[in-house]
Amino acid sequence: MSISRFTAAVVLILMSATFSTPNASAQSVSTSAPTGTADVAKEPKLQHFDPDLVDKTLDPCNDFYKYSCSKWLTANPIPPDQVYWSTGSGLELWNENLLRQTLEAASKDDPARSAVQQKIGDYWAACMDESGIDAAGLKPLQPELDRISALKSKKDITLEIVHLQHLFPGAWQQGDNESNSPFFGFTGQPDYDDASKVVAQIDQAGLSLPNRDYYLKTDDKSKELLDKYRAHVQKMFVLAGEPETQAAADAGTVITLETAMAHAQMDNVKRRDPKNVNNKMTLAEVRALTPSINWDEYLKAVKAPAADHYIVTAPDFFRAEEKLLIEHSLDDWKTYMRWQVIHRSAPYMNKEFVDENFDFFARTLAGAQTQQPRWRRCVRAADRDLGDALGQAYVDRAFPPASKVRMLQMVHSIETALRADIQGLSWMSPATKEQAMVKLKGIEDKIGYPSHWRDYSAVRITRDSYLNNVSQATSFEFERWVAKIGKPVDRTEWTMTPPTINAYYDPQLNTINFPAGILQPPFFDPTKDDAVNYGAIGMIIGHEIIHGFDDQGRKFDAHGNLRDWWTAEDAKQYDERGKCISDEYTQEVPEAGPGVKQNGLLTQGEDTADNGGIHLAFYALEAALKQEGKSLDDKGPDGWTYRQRFFLSNAYSWCANVRPQIARLIVTTDPHSLPVFRIDNVLSNMSEFQQAFGCKAGQKMVRANACRVW
Ligand SMILES: [Zn+2]
Repeated sequence: MSISRFTAAVVLILMSATFSTPNASAQSVSTSAPTGTADVAKEPKLQHFDPDLVDKTLDPCNDFYKYSCSKWLTANPIPPDQVYWSTGSGLELWNENLLRQTLEAASKDDPARSAVQQKIGDYWAACMDESGIDAAGLKPLQPELDRISALKSKKDITLEIVHLQHLFPGAWQQGDNESNSPFFGFTGQPDYDDASKVVAQIDQAGLSLPNRDYYLKTDDKSKELLDKYRAHVQKMFVLAGEPETQAAADAGTVITLETAMAHAQMDNVKRRDPKNVNNKMTLAEVRALTPSINWDEYLKAVKAPAADHYIVTAPDFFRAEEKLLIEHSLDDWKTYMRWQVIHRSAPYMNKEFVDENFDFFARTLAGAQTQQPRWRRCVRAADRDLGDALGQAYVDRAFPPASKVRMLQMVHSIETALRADIQGLSWMSPATKEQAMVKLKGIEDKIGYPSHWRDYSAVRITRDSYLNNVSQATSFEFERWVAKIGKPVDRTEWTMTPPTINAYYDPQLNTINFPAGILQPPFFDPTKDDAVNYGAIGMIIGHEIIHGFDDQGRKFDAHGNLRDWWTAEDAKQYDERGKCISDEYTQEVPEAGPGVKQNGLLTQGEDTADNGGIHLAFYALEAALKQEGKSLDDKGPDGWTYRQRFFLSNAYSWCANVRPQIARLIVTTDPHSLPVFRIDNVLSNMSEFQQAFGCKAGQKMVRANACRVW
């Protein structure tokens, strides 16, 4: 779970797990796997960089992504249960298969099982028990629906919010999906002005669709999706036992309330600037903002320690929510809460719910054709809910100490490359350079897995109810974060589990974090030489380090405090360079459909990190070769120069077939550019690339107005 709002990740590999809403994604389905899929799972294959996949009939200077990837893309169509299929997808399956073996072994009814094995084993057994879940029908849901019916007045809503936030993953904070808690999000996070302390954060929320645009945009495609959402909400109410006419009216109420909340939300570009969300309020001010929520009762119920201030990310949202709470009847709010319960329970319920949830959130919104096999959904849910318990076993099996040693060497050499880059900058003054060096020196490198493992002994897991297990784990995580409020920040905390195929920079801890899950082929390949590794994982390392210096990260200092360490002139110089990037990436995205346009202001941080990251990795490779007495233009064993193999490996690690539906979703909600742009836009800005393949001015991979920040 991602807690720090500005935590900047690198990859979209786990698209299906991170991008359909928390509900649809990790668990979409109910039917058992088609045999073909199951067979693949038996022997999942890791993809290794292979320069023979280059299509030499194409011109590398016209479209390098196509030159490097088209053969792979043709040979690897998207499986029907996927929305995205990349060179990293084999790794995703490989990782999940290892986790599955651990879970299956732990689920054997063996009296010698350890407490940790009992938890992950019983979690697995309860999740995989489809027939038991189907037989239980509405039973797990009914007590929750009854609770809501029994609410007597609007005054009861506050405590019901607390209850709901304990029930479902993501119900208490935004996590990877913005604004998807019911009513609002609440958690602990480092204070913007003093990152050594944890403070309470109260965040806008309330939606079920991926973000506010889905409610507010008025183009035909957006209206069509909202109509389909309305039909989906209605069907779900029917499944929960409502008559058709009632369900139709209730769907209308849900959409009215969610649309009103969407209107009141700060948009995702504005939210990228930490100054816009760093609104400190006293408890008295919070009370005055939304008097209809009894904040004293709320804070007591979630056991939040008293605090001298609270961060309210979007005060306007809470003013609007107050108005809505006054204007709408208790019955309307009961309908909204019933929807929240039904919608958020769906992935853990019987086949009808799972199928209908899949149909809208995975098929319509993301483009999946069939549901993923249940085992994959259960593995990902277990990773989300008991990540450290599973992660320990993963690390033992898949992350040898030698990998950590080599990774650390690469990280250090890339940090050295940034040091040299900063020192050589013509546009930055010595005063700002000195501050930048302090920040760089302060970065803590975290590789593979946390220094200590989370203790799950307080989480009660049984074989009886999958839904209840998910709620137990959610409560544990919610309370764990709230308990941090008022305490010193725990710098050892990770917000990704060890098997995760991703990486992140945390600006408030000033750490770069590389889970063991991504330190595997094709990203990190112990069987390959430096050119291949720097092109793939090296670029990712550089990307994370640059996040500390992108348009958002540069606003935080070495200690993670929101503090301006730039001279006015240097900041101006930076903004000019940043604007070049955001203008470049404000572009048509035909992959997502006609007329769909990327907002370069939303993706500016990630694009800056991509562009800077590859430069740093390239310089680090150059230095590594020099140490061995080699040069970039020497030929490697396969006839390509090291310089060429670096860029080929870089492109190879991002080859991905992407369905138009998920492409549209990414462009609307995600701060990352699509893979094709992460190669072609970046390399067309880069003379080192153009030199590698002899590209000339006027060719597509040579951008006339090349951007360069780092
Ligand atoms: Zn990133």
